[in-house]
Amino acid sequence: SSKDVKSGKEKVPATRAGAAQYSTGVRKVTLIPGHGIGPEITVAVQKIFEAAKVPIEWEEVDVTAVRGPDGKFGIPQKAIDSVNANKIGLKGPLMTPVGKGYRSLNLALRKEFDLYANVRPCKSLEGIKTLYDNVDVVTIRENTEGEYSGIEHEIVDGVVQSIKLITEEASTRVAEFAFQFARENKRKKVTAVHKANIMRMSDGLFLRCCRELATKYPDIKFEERYLDTVCLNMVQDPSKFDVLVMPNLYGDIMSDMCSGLVGGLGLTPSGNIGKNGALFESVHGTAPDIAGKDMANPTALLLSAIMMLRHLQLNDHADLVQNACYEVLREGRALTGDLGGTAKCSEFTNAIISKL
Ligand code: NAD
Repeated sequence: SSKDVKSGKEKVPATRAGAAQYSTGVRKVTLIPGHGIGPEITVAVQKIFEAAKVPIEWEEVDVTAVRGPDGKFGIPQKAIDSVNANKIGLKGPLMTPVGKGYRSLNLALRKEFDLYANVRPCKSLEGIKTLYDNVDVVTIRENTEGEYSGIEHEIVDGVVQSIKLITEEASTRVAEFAFQFARENKRKKVTAVHKANIMRMSDGLFLRCCRELATKYPDIKFEERYLDTVCLNMVQDPSKFDVLVMPNLYGDIMSDMCSGLVGGLGLTPSGNIGKNGALFESVHGTAPDIAGKDMANPTALLLSAIMMLRHLQLNDHADLVQNACYEVLREGRALTGDLGGTAKCSEFTNAIISKL
């Protein structure tokens, strides 16, 4: 069964769809602790995995921006080589310095490894008080183009253009990922989210690709909905939705909204999946206000790491750690400040370890 033994809740979904092949035995995983609270929450995950005897070996790399041959700041070659070799990584939040010459390292990583599908499961957690207790949606966001194509220019002084790029190839592969994901995780429905009434050509093409794929998955229900309608319905009754697939910008925003419905960014995991590798990450930022104070909530990174374990087909270890984490959240005795508790990150971590 896909239910968690102790809580009866669904497990954090697997992301086998489109997965590269991994060897069995001890797996080497690239670890990017990141900035701000990144190193603290990374240590929390490492400690929990060590206690749970998870058979992975971390290869830690630093991704502080370095200046490349083109004069722009980017990811160090060592980090690129490590992800290329291991094909799987866990990453904490990265700070993108504001200023000319800096690129978003997050974007650069997605581009470098062609991580075309961003998977963001949002599920109500017992013990976390929110508007609804029945949220269980997975946003699948096209992760390489759309509104984030990075093609921008100034036409004349005072007039700029940012190009929304939609291709049949990228739309088809993310739609296929969504249907495959739905099938593998015993989900019932895929909703394509769009604004093809306004952006007839770009969203129209995205939608056509989704429709085409839907015909190949008769076991999965398919529906099409306007983005604005989905936003309205999502806050009114999230149980209407299951798996959602959409272009880049819509997915970025929608997944944060869904995150809010289950208790915020400190609790929501994500995976960036490509044909040749995958990077799992917490979706929150570096939280500079609490960095270095042992106050951060490591749940989002831990749940991301659990998604990663399922991707590697280490399902028993994933179940073990997930049950322990859910139990600590349900009991509510060792919650971090963002969840209304007073526990330190290290205390929350130890509470999880004590449940293993
Ligand atoms: P943020 O997510 O870092 O912080 C927003 C608020 O949420 C803060 O009050 C913070 O304390 C709190 N918070 C976030 N994660 C938490 C956690 N795990 N536990 C407890 N509280 C938590 O967003 P921001 O302040 O807008 O961004 C700060 C930096 O992070 C920026 O440099 C931004 O570029 C970067 N960022 C990186 C990523 C990423 O790497 N994926 C994502 C978003 C922002």
